[in-house]
Amino acid sequence: MYQYVKDGDRYVVSIDNHQDVMEALTAFCIETGIRAGEVSGIGAVCSATLRFLNPATKAYVDRTFEEQMEISSLVGNISEKDGKPYLHLHVNLGRSDYSVVGGHMLTCRINGACELFVTRYDCRLGRRFDEETGLNLYDF
Ligand code: FE
Repeated sequence: MYQYVKDGDRYVVSIDNHQDVMEALTAFCIETGIRAGEVSGIGAVCSATLRFLNPATKAYVDRTFEEQMEISSLVGNISEKDGKPYLHLHVNLGRSDYSVVGGHMLTCRINGACELFVTRYDCRLGRRFDEETGLNLYDF
């Protein structure tokens, strides 16, 4: 599903071809016991589902893109909710015409490679649902 090397609190993670980034990174967090941290990376995908939240209606709009795209930038964080890893990842995806789509990642199927950098934090980062925004905000 993935391979990694560790350098202190930092990890270099290579997600295997055809894997989903969310699934692989969740498994990685469980295996390594990472409960808080940050994520960045690059790679290539053949399919991705992104989510847009309309703040006025609090309605989610999910859209799937089925095409080969470059992960020109993946950035996000690791926290926990209900005792499980909670990944909050945003991604910019470059299309074959060099335009970019991007947003909040729901799924991201690797087709090629995915090279991530994960930094572990020692603090605990919880989440709670916030009625006003409709978001799972940090619960400090
Ligand atoms: Fe988001």
